[in-house]
Amino acid sequence: MSLAELTARERELFETAHPRSKELHELAKSSLLAGVPMSWMAMWAGGYPIYLDRAEGATIVDVDGNEYADFCVGDTGAMAGHSPAPTMRAIAEIAGITTMLPTEDAAWVGSELGRRFGIPYWQFSLTATDANRWMIRLCRHVTGRDRIAVFSWCYHGSVDESFVRLDEQGLARAREGLVGPPVDPTETTRVAEFNEVESVRSVLEHGDVACLLMEPALTNIGIVLPEPGFMDEVRALCDEHGTLLIIDETHTLSAGPGGCTAAWGLRPDAVTLGKSIGGGVPIGAYGVSAELAEQIAAQDDADYEDTGGVGGTLAGNALSLAAARATLGEVLTDEAFERMIGLRERFAAGVEAAIAKHGMPWSIISLGARCEYRYSPEPPRTGAESAAAGDPELDEYLHLYLMNRGVLITPFHNMALMCPATTEDQVDRHTQVFGDAVAELAA
Ligand code: PMP
Repeated sequence: MSLAELTARERELFETAHPRSKELHELAKSSLLAGVPMSWMAMWAGGYPIYLDRAEGATIVDVDGNEYADFCVGDTGAMAGHSPAPTMRAIAEIAGITTMLPTEDAAWVGSELGRRFGIPYWQFSLTATDANRWMIRLCRHVTGRDRIAVFSWCYHGSVDESFVRLDEQGLARAREGLVGPPVDPTETTRVAEFNEVESVRSVLEHGDVACLLMEPALTNIGIVLPEPGFMDEVRALCDEHGTLLIIDETHTLSAGPGGCTAAWGLRPDAVTLGKSIGGGVPIGAYGVSAELAEQIAAQDDADYEDTGGVGGTLAGNALSLAAARATLGEVLTDEAFERMIGLRERFAAGVEAAIAKHGMPWSIISLGARCEYRYSPEPPRTGAESAAAGDPELDEYLHLYLMNRGVLITPFHNMALMCPATTEDQVDRHTQVFGDAVAELAA
């Protein structure tokens, strides 16, 4: 069968197995834009999202009674597993949700993040997007520079400045389909190619870049790992040109308890993260080095407390921080990471074996507990290469095939993330189903 025929068959299977989800989606169209509570939920293969009945550990059950081994885990938001018991307990016990008063949990979480990342001073937001936004503002203010830099094909949340990429001529341009930018982001942002030292140099040597906001490995255009020495070069170039280095560990936390920063001995000026550290309860965090903390404190003209542009009413609330304390302290522990990384090795070995058996020109790229298959024989080394290795038609087929047989991966590309509750059986289910999907494709 051709890919188109296989996909058509899988669409039919999907329809048959999800009547209640379809019904609920149809009903929702009368009250929700595009029939979904958030626009990207319309991206699941199948034409409509499966509706959640319950989620526990690494298992999801939908309203039609289908059960899934969940490797999407809320696109990292549920990296601690769904409804982890310590987090649920902490939530049930809190005395107030949001009071504008600090709780003891906040300093505990700050010092735990400090232990993990080697970054001493922290603040909290509700999302990783806001952590990035506010960190960028702080960097602009302390450096007195107005530009920032990012890597082509990055994603850091809905941060206005970050929606840029390099085109085929190597020129910066706004991302396709960008919705209502306040200004053309090429006016605010310089763009470098990941793993290209000269590209980073040419961006920073303008001398007007306040900060370089980067993931230590790109994770939102497949996974692109840094080549040996690249991160050292980036650090040295930032030092040379007076640019602050912000490492966004929102996804790359998968590398270990202190993300890539700890795993690879990176030396950022600031770290941002979010999503997973509250066990699914909204929280973001940004941490700064002692030096940067001093520079921030020295800005007498900055209104950090009121209407200066940094902060949010619910940021630092008691609920987020109680959840983060329980999640970091009892769920996403050092030991949990060891187990998760072991499971990812098993997962990747299964994928590799299937790719080799059927001679597919694909690769699998791993980052700690996370991995991703990509349709290129070698792991891509730049964002552009990884973008070129995307294939929406293959994605649709594989995602449907997996879903129809009880496995979920992220709807956007092919990311799988192990959580502390993931089991070997679930990994083996993926191996089996992925192998079958590839065998049918190769036949
Ligand atoms: N940083 C990175 C690296 C991300 O991948 C994302 C979201 N995928 C964000 C920040 C933003 O997270 P949120 O949408 O939860 O604000």
